[in-house]
Amino acid sequence: MAVCLNCGKETDYCLCDECRSTVNIEDLCRRIVDYRPSNCENPLWNQIASEMAYMSDFRNAAFALADELPPPRREYWKILAFCGENANVQKYNRPWLYETYERIKDLDGLTRLELNRIKGMVLGALFMDYRYEDADLLAGELLEEDELPAQAYYNLADFYSKTRRYDEADDAMDAAARLYGAEHTDHLFGKIAESNRKYREKEAQGKQQYMPNPKENKDEVRKAYIDYLDSIGIEAEITVSSTSRSSIPKAIPRDQYPEPKEIRDVNFDSFVAYDLETTGFSPKTDAIIEIGAVKVCGGKVIESHEFVFQEFVRPYKKSVREEITQLTGITKDDVKDARQMWEVFPDFMKFVGDNVLVGYNNVKFDSRFLVRAGRYSNIIMQNPQFDVMKYADRFRTKLGFANENLSLETLSKKLGIENPEAHRALADAITTARVYLRLKEMDVSENMVVVDDILSDLDNW
Ligand SMILES: [Zn+2]
Repeated sequence: MAVCLNCGKETDYCLCDECRSTVNIEDLCRRIVDYRPSNCENPLWNQIASEMAYMSDFRNAAFALADELPPPRREYWKILAFCGENANVQKYNRPWLYETYERIKDLDGLTRLELNRIKGMVLGALFMDYRYEDADLLAGELLEEDELPAQAYYNLADFYSKTRRYDEADDAMDAAARLYGAEHTDHLFGKIAESNRKYREKEAQGKQQYMPNPKENKDEVRKAYIDYLDSIGIEAEITVSSTSRSSIPKAIPRDQYPEPKEIRDVNFDSFVAYDLETTGFSPKTDAIIEIGAVKVCGGKVIESHEFVFQEFVRPYKKSVREEITQLTGITKDDVKDARQMWEVFPDFMKFVGDNVLVGYNNVKFDSRFLVRAGRYSNIIMQNPQFDVMKYADRFRTKLGFANENLSLETLSKKLGIENPEAHRALADAITTARVYLRLKEMDVSENMVVVDDILSDLDNW
């Protein structure tokens, strides 16, 4: 500061010696703290401010000038100069703020509104430092007041909104609007009101609401937050995604994982038929949401529990879209507590053993998803894959499917096989097994027909 803020004369302080004895220091502090270049007619101040990098540099003049005042007026203006009207006190200023507040909170010399303005700032700072219990005590004190500065209402509303007490947040904003007029507070509280509304909406939908997102000590802070909510009777859970990300196993690189082996001979009648439900149609980017499988022994589909496998899978980095729910009946809720593919896959492979894996369009589709699950579970899958859709292609003429899409649904209908729950993994796996067995039967009888034809031809000789 090279000039006097009052008269513009060169000085090594923000006031020249002459002005220092005539000017009301406290009033000057107030005007400096309230100073905005946009609404100030003082060309001297605008000139000084325009040469500064930050507005906080301008307020530093009030911080320095406040030294001339007695406590607690001194601390009051220092706090306002330091923290500004901004409700968010900078991290490096907070220890000083707490210390100063403790020193002055019981002193005479501040109006109730002034003290509460500082309390509001301390409340905001405590919240940002994740000191929820301390913040709660202060919020309780502020709540007992009939009238608060707008800034304190702001801190209260923010605190209650982010600790999931949306009604209390609305109350604080309503009280401010009644006292100061909605045209002022709508602008000031706009962002909080909007988040409060969104969190409330998410709460109604059972979705994740506000959760602190600190750069350091993430788990610690979130646990403190959840514990605090728990202590005030609000149920909260740490989101699945936040806990799962840390436990993603190291995957076998794609180029080191063997391609699934396809077989075409139908020389087997013991196998595992399986089907996957997924978040979409791309084995590259979509994820498994359900695995269903059935063990077939000697051509018999056995539906007792030790011969079937069914488990939901929590999709990795994907969510269950509405279309998928409509197609499969599987909802977000069904998979939200399910295990990840790398947790389910080892159990699935135990169930499969060294059986042939029979699927429907599995060579191009399902087996690709299994490869990814195998990579993430560090299990090499060596089971051969047999694709019933490809097999069925041989029967097109016989079944009367010239150009139609050979879906499992149309094919099973044609063969008179009932699928009570199409597009659910286990039901589709069982249907696939039955279709395979039926086609194999036809295969054999077709060969018989050919023999009969030859014989009848021979008869005609
Ligand atoms: Zn002067």
